[in-house]
Amino acid sequence: MNVVILTDSDTGFVRVPLKSIGAYKVASALRSSNIDTIVISHFLKLADFYPKELFTLLSKVVKNDTIFLGISATFLKIKPLSKEHKVIISILNFVKKLAPNIKIVVGGSLLENVSTIAQISKANHIIKGYADSTIIKLYHDILNKKSLSYIIDDDPLAKDYDFSNCTPSYSSIDGIQKEEALLLEVSRGCRFKCKFCNFVLLGRNPKTDKYIRTRYSLAKELEYNYANFNTTDYLITCDTFNETTEKLETVYSAIKDVGIKINFSCYLRLELINVNREQISLLKEMGIKSATFGIESLNDKAAKTVGKGLGKDKLKSLLEDIYKTWGEDVRTQSNLIVGLPYDSVESINAWMSSIENNYLKIHNFTISPLGLFDGYDTEFNKHPEKYGYKLTETGWQNEYMDQQEAGRLAMYWAERLKKRNSYLGLEGVTGFRNYGWDYDKILSISMNDYENMSDIMKEQNKIFYKKYLNKMLFHNQGENK
Ligand code: SF4
Repeated sequence: MNVVILTDSDTGFVRVPLKSIGAYKVASALRSSNIDTIVISHFLKLADFYPKELFTLLSKVVKNDTIFLGISATFLKIKPLSKEHKVIISILNFVKKLAPNIKIVVGGSLLENVSTIAQISKANHIIKGYADSTIIKLYHDILNKKSLSYIIDDDPLAKDYDFSNCTPSYSSIDGIQKEEALLLEVSRGCRFKCKFCNFVLLGRNPKTDKYIRTRYSLAKELEYNYANFNTTDYLITCDTFNETTEKLETVYSAIKDVGIKINFSCYLRLELINVNREQISLLKEMGIKSATFGIESLNDKAAKTVGKGLGKDKLKSLLEDIYKTWGEDVRTQSNLIVGLPYDSVESINAWMSSIENNYLKIHNFTISPLGLFDGYDTEFNKHPEKYGYKLTETGWQNEYMDQQEAGRLAMYWAERLKKRNSYLGLEGVTGFRNYGWDYDKILSISMNDYENMSDIMKEQNKIFYKKYLNKMLFHNQGENK
């Protein structure tokens, strides 16, 4: 192979085996330029369950003239000297024996994870932002021994990449299993600019053609995935899937073009559903199974300051309206943040209690403290004092609390809301399809069941990874002989 890319979706305890998408988009772009590329997914889990087979696979795909080993770091939260750290080092040592001149390239959308992995792997280059076009130039520059900077950010928004007409992300050589649930990237960026948000392409025009795929491109991908893997289940990665009703209708037309029934999980913005009520039944008709909303706070002043302005009364009645149509066929989840402006410990305790007492018709809540991390490019990071924050060595501080206290309060409420949370969230609903379970079974799994499922999940994960490895070894059996 010319290029080998390692990716894993999470390093947590036992998680459902869902593939990530970034590495596959990059591989697809490289392959379109006739550069032989292979993605090895779940590499940390494989190292855990089947180390011998993982190293056999590496020995088959890394050749002494492989140009670079890419590591997609978005979801790799690795602690120094952890087990995962040691796995990465042993893979790199092994790969460098096979290909002494190989370069190490690290990329991904979460800068702190990219920096950690780049340090651990002693990377030659870091790619900032979307890599779809930069990666091809980088490949040729390394091949032609050009002198290159450590940080490559030629085109971090991939403006030169024809995203709207892009080809399918996953390929028949990617070891995808029959009926595997996959990720689907319909658009990039978000029309909003929430003050704490560190995503890229914020505030972009929702009607742009540039970062939203065409009906034809989407239909091609759905058709390819169905023909090659029988895939009908997706986690849609758009930051705000429902940015316009027109976009939803385009996706629905693409689904109808292919003529199959699709099920999906997605991220939605409630303000948009509120003014485009037709989206409630449209999403149901399209096949929604799980949705995540970002409500952040039920203190109206705090929510409005960060850019979420519906207000708790409207939120309550909107969620009741949504429930009338979706009922128990769709699992809903929302994120909450501790530490926003105007939110004191007392106000947070008050609105968290109302959530605990089912003020909002939502199945699950996840809670996190506000993070203003070094290197983040958020409005809060740019102008902390304007919003009442002082940046300190240990994080932030405002008139009510500091980051550590926010962390403790978030943990306290996360623990309390565990009893109130009822069913699985977005990743779980789509990810459990990869155990071959049907939606009746998945939607009946309570949070209580989930808490006690680690042994079953570990077993199911082992089966999934074994099948994946076997497919990958089968596809690459002729390599490097
Ligand atoms: S938090 Fe969500 S809605 Fe707000 S800017 Fe970020 S992606 Fe967009």
